[in-house]
Amino acid sequence: MTTSSDLAARYRRVLPSFLAPYYAEPIAIDHGEGSYVYDLDGGRYLDFFGGVLTTMIGHRHPAVTAAVQEQADKVLHTSTLYLSEPMIEFAEMVAEVSGIPDARVYFTPSGSEANDAALLFATSYRTSNQILAIRNSYHGRVFSTQAITSHSSWRSTSHSGLQVQFVHGGYRLRSPFRDLDDDAYTAACVDDLVQVLDMTSAGDVAAMIAEPIQGVGGFAAAPDGLFGAFGKELSNRGILFISDEVQTGWGRTGDHFWGYQAHDIVPDMLTFAKGVGNGITLAGIVARAEIMDTIDVLNFSTFGGNPLSAAAGAATLRTVLGEGLQANAKAMGEHFEAAMSPVAASTPWIAEMRGRGLMWAFEVCEPGTIEPDKSRTGEFHEACRRHGLLVGKGGLYGNVVRLAPMLNVSADEIDEGVAALRAAIADVA
Ligand code: PMP
Repeated sequence: MTTSSDLAARYRRVLPSFLAPYYAEPIAIDHGEGSYVYDLDGGRYLDFFGGVLTTMIGHRHPAVTAAVQEQADKVLHTSTLYLSEPMIEFAEMVAEVSGIPDARVYFTPSGSEANDAALLFATSYRTSNQILAIRNSYHGRVFSTQAITSHSSWRSTSHSGLQVQFVHGGYRLRSPFRDLDDDAYTAACVDDLVQVLDMTSAGDVAAMIAEPIQGVGGFAAAPDGLFGAFGKELSNRGILFISDEVQTGWGRTGDHFWGYQAHDIVPDMLTFAKGVGNGITLAGIVARAEIMDTIDVLNFSTFGGNPLSAAAGAATLRTVLGEGLQANAKAMGEHFEAAMSPVAASTPWIAEMRGRGLMWAFEVCEPGTIEPDKSRTGEFHEACRRHGLLVGKGGLYGNVVRLAPMLNVSADEIDEGVAALRAAIADVA
C-alpha cells in the first residue's frame, strides 16, 4: 500500500525543486468530505486552507460532483469554436454578478493567464506598456504576471516587456505610513501614487492592478476606500483599474461579493480563479466590451471555459448565491474573530491578527516587534497540523499563517479550528 512517505520521496525525485510540500512529513490527501480531508495513513484534518482558497464550498460537494459527473457523461471539451451551453450560461452568470457594465467574460485555465489577458487588454486599449501595481503584490507565475508581482520571495525574474512601478498602500504593517490613521494613510498613499505618475512615468500609464486583500502577501489589506481614492487619480488620466479577485471573489470577504466593493470603485476589469470551480481548473476575466474588443484579431484559449469546468463553475456559483454563503462568511468570520482576537492579543509573538469574512492571518514576529520570525511560523504551522488543522503559510518573509475556511463552514467547525489554534499556540509558546 502506498504511504505518505513513499509519495514524499517520489515527489522530490520527479517534481522541480521550486515546489515544496508543506510539513516536515508531508501529508498525502486521499479524499475529502465537506470541511475535512483524510490522508493515506488514516489521519483526518479540518481543512482551513482549501488547497489555497480553491476548494471553496467544501470537498465532495454534492452539487458540484453531480454537475461534473453529468457533464463528463455528455462531452468533456468542445472549444469556443462551437456553442457550449455550460460555458455561455456560466459567462452570463459571471457577467451579471461582476458589477461591471456591458460586461464580457473571457475564460482561461488559471489566474495567471487571467491576469496575463488583463495586461494584454489594458496595454492594447491604452497603447502603453506602463503598469502600476501595489507593493507586496502577487499576480501569478507566468512571465507577464511575474513583472507585476513585487513579492520578492515569489518573483523569479525581473525580465519583462512591461514597465512597472509599484505604489504604497497594500501592506500597512510594514508601510512607512503605518502609524497614520485611515484617512491620513490613504492621503499619503494617494500622494505617493501622484508622485509616481508625475515623476516616474511617461504619463500615459495603461492600468493599475491590485489585489483588494493581498493573498500570497499574507492577507494584508489597505484601509477600505483606498482603491476608490486611487481610482479618482487614475480615471482623471484615463488609466484603467484592474481588480485581481482571485482570492477575494465570490463572497469570501463576507461584507462584499467582490473585494473591490470595499473601496467605492467599479473596476474596468476584474480577474477570478481559484475557488470559482470549487477545485476544477477555471479562471477568467471580466471587462467592459469596449476594452476587450480592442483585440481585433483572433485570441483563443483552448481550455478556457471548457464544458466540464463551466459546469463546475455554475454549480459552485449557484450554491454560493442560493445558500447565502457570503452571509455565512460574514457571520462565521465574526465568530472566528470574537474567539481568536483575545488569544492573538495575548500572544506576544503574534504581531497582528488581520482579516475579514473567511480570510484570516496571523503575522508571526519577535515578541513586541515587527521583526519577522519565520522559524516560529513553521513551528506554529506544524503544531496546527498536530492538532488536526490544515492552515496555510504566506507573507513577504514567510512569517504569516493564513486561514481560509470553506464558505459553508459551520460554527462547530470554526470552534474546532479555534480549539486547535489555541492548542497550537500553547505548544509554540
Ligand atoms: N492572483 C492572485 C491574487 C493569486 O493569489 C494567484 C494564485 N496564488 C494568482 C493570481 C495566480 O493564479 P494561478 O495560480 O491560478 O495561476
